[in-house]
Amino acid sequence: MSARRSVALCPGSYDPVTNGHLDIIGRAAALWDEVVVGVVNHPVRKGATLFDVKERIAFIEEATAELPNVRVEGFSTLVVELARAVGARAIVKGLRAISDFEYELEMNQLNRQQAPDIESVYLMASPRYSFLSSSGVKELAIFGGVIDSLVPATVARRLREELARS
Ligand code: ADP
Repeated sequence: MSARRSVALCPGSYDPVTNGHLDIIGRAAALWDEVVVGVVNHPVRKGATLFDVKERIAFIEEATAELPNVRVEGFSTLVVELARAVGARAIVKGLRAISDFEYELEMNQLNRQQAPDIESVYLMASPRYSFLSSSGVKELAIFGGVIDSLVPATVARRLREELARS
């Protein structure tokens, strides 16, 4: 038996975290000894975030408080560098639709080139969250849609404060 604890990294922008993200994080926490949720400080692909990194981290910490093997870290480096720094051999991503697959395939090839020793692992989105994205929730919030079943209560409240149009 190996004494080494297995660590998985769940990276993302989490702007803000949704119940779909939390589903993946919880499922990863059941499979690995430790899960580090990596919150990217300034996402390159998505531009400016609605919430700063401190608040995005706080949302996830609150929502995962009952999972003792999950911790959250902000990062501004390559994902594979963070994986190495926290001792993760696996990067865990959620896959919702074909569009996620195309993007993830490209990222997989790039990450593999940078760090062949780190494996990416994909968990299929649970059917109830297959069409849930942070950007979709933000759009709903702008127009006063009901978001309470899609994100934790604190996130729903903050989204309404930031986005609801009068
Ligand atoms: P988003 O694509 O919603 O902006 P992130 O960039 O924060 O999310 O993504 C972090 C990870 O979570 C990615 O692997 C993404 O595919 C995954 N993910 C996002 N939403 C869901 C969901 N509803 N179900 C499963 N996985 C998801």
